[in-house]
This record gives sequence, C-alpha cells and structure tokens, in this order.
Amino acid sequence: MRMANKKFKCIKCERRIINPVCIDCRQRQIRVWLDDQNIIPEKKELLLKDAESLFPKKSDNSILCIYCKKNNVSACTYCFFSHFEELLHKFDIPAVSIDSFQKVFNYRLYSKDI
Ligand SMILES: [Zn+2]
Ligand SMILES: [Zn+2]
Repeated sequence: MRMANKKFKCIKCERRIINPVCIDCRQRQIRVWLDDQNIIPEKKELLLKDAESLFPKKSDNSILCIYCKKNNVSACTYCFFSHFEELLHKFDIPAVSIDSFQKVFNYRLYSKDI
C-alpha cells in the first residue's frame, strides 16, 4: 500500500501552487475583463482560444481548482498570467488594456509564491 502522493507543483516553474485555479475558471475571469476592453470581438475570441492552450488541462497534480472544485490545475497563478500577458503583446493589444490587465489581475504579487 502506498500513501497518496499529493502533487501541487506548477508544471512550468515547479513551485508549489497555493492558489489553484483551473484554465476554465481563468478563462471566465479573463472573459469578464475582456468585455470591458476596447478590442474587436474576433481578437478577443482568438486570445481566449490561445489562452486555453497555454497550459494542459490535465497534469500529474492532485490539486483541484478552488472555484469549480472539479478541474485539475497544472500551472500557478504567476505562470498563467505572465504567459497570458505575452499573448496580449503578441496580439497587439493596446497599452491601455495591458495596464488594465496588470492592475486587475495583479499577478506579479504571486511571483514569490513558494
Ligand atoms: Zn509557475
Ligand atoms: Zn475551475
């Protein structure tokens, strides 16, 4: 018999995930934010589509999303949002929206998660 081997590591930075939120729930948060941004709808959809594939929906982690309590979480808050911000640049999103993104999600706070 082996003990349940709980894993909580971000697949990207390998730090412990202390604020687990799945990709689906992140997408919902981002969609709410995007609705307030002056970005053409086609671009918003493409952004969300790319965001969905930033990280796998399944991982070895035994950690579940704190919101929906059913999905697996593979990446930490910092890694998810920092990669999403790269997407914003890639999609030529206006600086005013990138500023808003940084203020709303304030993900750099999580860069020192251990
Ligand atoms: Zn990470
Ligand atoms: Zn979730």
